[in-house]
Amino acid sequence: MSTAWAGGTDAIVERMDEMTALFVEQTRKKLYSGESATHCEECGETIPEARRQAIACQYCLTCQTKLEQR
Ligand SMILES: [Zn+2]
Repeated sequence: MSTAWAGGTDAIVERMDEMTALFVEQTRKKLYSGESATHCEECGETIPEARRQAIACQYCLTCQTKLEQR
């Protein structure tokens, strides 16, 4: 399948950009699809349902605040 690489280095760079874009898109979907973790990924603390429904979150309020302050 040499034709796939006909563009040489440019084609490879383009392909990597596609991969990066795809990865970013998947990460974004995970974060904003409305799916929240039931437990904080940082400390394992239960995330209050009110918070989970308000925004799609993966961390409890304490850890979220800490992470944002970094
Ligand atoms: Zn936490």
